[in-house]
Amino acid sequence: MAIAHGYAAHSHDTPLVPYTFQRRALRDDDVQIEILYSGVCHSDMHTARNEWAGSVYPDGTVYPSIPGHEIVGRVTALGPAATRFKVGDIVGVGCMVDSCGECEPCKEDMESYCEKYATWTYNSPDRVTGENTLGGYSDLIVVREAFVLSITHKPELTPATAPLLCAGITMWSPLTHWQAGPGKKVGIVGIGGLGHMGLKLAHALGAKVVAFTTSPSKVEDAKALGADEVVISRNAEEMAAQANGFDLIIDTVAAPHDLDPYLALLKRQGTLTLVGLPAEPHPSPSVVNLVAGRRNLSGSLVGGLRETQEMLDFCAKHDIVPDIETIAMRDIETAFARMAKNDVKYRFVIDMATMDKAA
Ligand code: NAP
Ligand code: ZN
Repeated sequence: MAIAHGYAAHSHDTPLVPYTFQRRALRDDDVQIEILYSGVCHSDMHTARNEWAGSVYPDGTVYPSIPGHEIVGRVTALGPAATRFKVGDIVGVGCMVDSCGECEPCKEDMESYCEKYATWTYNSPDRVTGENTLGGYSDLIVVREAFVLSITHKPELTPATAPLLCAGITMWSPLTHWQAGPGKKVGIVGIGGLGHMGLKLAHALGAKVVAFTTSPSKVEDAKALGADEVVISRNAEEMAAQANGFDLIIDTVAAPHDLDPYLALLKRQGTLTLVGLPAEPHPSPSVVNLVAGRRNLSGSLVGGLRETQEMLDFCAKHDIVPDIETIAMRDIETAFARMAKNDVKYRFVIDMATMDKAA
């Protein structure tokens, strides 16, 4: 067992506070990782505040809860059967730390769709002990080596690689599944942590990219991030000008909203895929927009390990990283408050060297 220091929520309406706990003793195929950086995903805030009770989490958030599933760190120890990494390697851990390994999705390297439920990096029962998993807002983690990713970016880019482990793969998976690339027109709705990575990745894959934002202040940023055009989604005229134009639209918005204006922008047989997971449901879309163009409405959940490694390698090759603002661990509540106000450009990353180890 190893002592770890983290920041935990103890209820939905109290701030995250320092929390000392133990990570498990190394199992045969485990990797122990000193966490260097941890990204701040909107899912972390949904979890800390128990906003997903009855939906993503049927039983709600289990407290104490340590969020964080965009983890980059350094290997510090290995179980006797762990052979893929060596001490000192820079590695990543994303949203999952285990899965059943036997169902069809697992066998097809689609572990996020594990039929027996992937073990999520936080708020999930460990497959062996049943204990609640605790995430990356901490200085140490122990993970099965099969769920650890290689980071091959230039060393100076290491802090910014953290959000690739969730925001990056959550956009890469639908973009590649629906074959975003040359000749395809792709829309990205909501320019936050996920959305800004969607712009970068869709552009790098060669698609024509349109950003949809509610924030006029993000127009120039969105162009710099890779958008060929930017639409203010609250402007009905700008929206109507895009009708029937899209092969794929990926909606990252973390709040309930009307999907019909986006369905109407799809070409015949185009796809609107939802990745944002608002606490309350979207209003049901009209059937007319679906049947009229034989359009598809779908969803997508992070991505499997093989495609996560492919995404990381692609990003390393092209020097792609998120735009980040590094924060100290003690400033997490300020970061959550800014995220709630849509004041993030475009992902907070916690520097774990700032961890408070006194508690
Ligand atoms: P984020 O950084 O807060 O970005 C969300 C963006 O949505 C905002 O920047 C804003 O963009 C837009 N937005 C927010 N409130 C809005 C409103 N009321 N109406 C319209 N647009 C609004 O969040 P994130 O970390 O990217 O996460 C987004 C969502 O995806 C969260 O629900 C998260 O839990 C979920 N998620 C899902 C997966 C998955 O596998 N499916 C993985 C990770 C996260 P503009 O200013 O440009 O409008
Ligand atoms: Zn996330």
